Amino acid sequence: MTLPSASSLARALACRASNVLPQEPDAGSEAAARGTALHAYVEAEANGQPGALARVPAAWREMARGLDVPAILEALGHDLFGDTEMRAEESFAWDPTRPYEGRSLGLSLNRDYSGATSGEFVGTADVVVVDRAADLVVVGDYKFGHGEVTPAATNPQLRALALYAARAHRVSQARVVVIRGREDGSCWLDAAEVSEIELERIAETLAELAGRVVADALGHQTPPATPGAHCRYCRAAVHCPEGPMALAVAQGTGLIDLAATAAGRGRLLQLRDFAKRLPDLINEQLRAAVARGDTALPGGAALALESTTKRAVVDAEAVYQNTLINLGPEAAEVAAPLVRAATMDTIKSAAQVGALKGERATRKQQLVDVLLRAGALKASTSESVVAR
Ligand code: SF4
Repeated sequence: MTLPSASSLARALACRASNVLPQEPDAGSEAAARGTALHAYVEAEANGQPGALARVPAAWREMARGLDVPAILEALGHDLFGDTEMRAEESFAWDPTRPYEGRSLGLSLNRDYSGATSGEFVGTADVVVVDRAADLVVVGDYKFGHGEVTPAATNPQLRALALYAARAHRVSQARVVVIRGREDGSCWLDAAEVSEIELERIAETLAELAGRVVADALGHQTPPATPGAHCRYCRAAVHCPEGPMALAVAQGTGLIDLAATAAGRGRLLQLRDFAKRLPDLINEQLRAAVARGDTALPGGAALALESTTKRAVVDAEAVYQNTLINLGPEAAEVAAPLVRAATMDTIKSAAQVGALKGERATRKQQLVDVLLRAGALKASTSESVVAR
């Protein structure tokens, strides 16, 4: 059982199910590729590696060019000629049973947490500045997307990283900073102080979470799923009992990013129309899968085509007359009452008039067949893909 990483803590705290449901691999997206490229750039610049800009794909190079990494590091409190220490892409491990200790797993590990144990929380800070003279660690996190970002003061990811970094570097206070990049590469900072007492509170919250995650993993039932903004990027979404499709469409497909730009908002309007056709498109794909013979479903179930026939009254007078001939006046009055408002329900009731319990279904079918032949009913058949 692995404990949630810092980047998934907001979700882990909000939704217990997300911690125990199976996780699917990250499918990637353009926004994620952009974020990865820009993070790689600021990391290389912070480490003084030459040629970093040339490695940024052309589509995002102008934004990278605008990022003034030395100025950002200075704003975070790093003094190039002083005693502060700057570390880019530092990964940490923190064990809730030893809350005053913490470990640096290393730098630039690409989220490889294999050095941590199963009972440790892990996380990676984009940039860490250690200021021993001030007994302070500064944890900075770049955000290059358009999506909403939780403010630094309440950001679970950053607050957890503040704890891990403070314990690993043996300082008693932290400052957390969200570094928001604009399209032209200029940045604005959202910073919040994390006192010694707050670090204790964060440790308590995480220790409680660890206990809950372990208990939920050992339980026999999936714990409650709690949908919300945190569903975005949830890798358990396809297994979510709250409806993976709705969640994926509403929250996991970059809709938030689209709403941030004029072009995106135009696209959202088109998407709204497209969404009405979505059930038909999904059904088309399921039918095609059945036609190809690709019918296997999880748990040994299989897709199958099921025919459903619907019947509807088209001539109430004919219903009355034919029921009269076949079942007599009492049944005819039930099938098509005086106002001649026959429905499939009244026909079913008519078939039951005077019938013994065991013969009701047969009588109903016989009456329906008679009415169909007489043109009093019409039948329409539709096919749908079902799981069996
Ligand atoms: S998609 Fe489901 S499991 Fe994932 S966070 Fe949302 S509610 Fe929880």
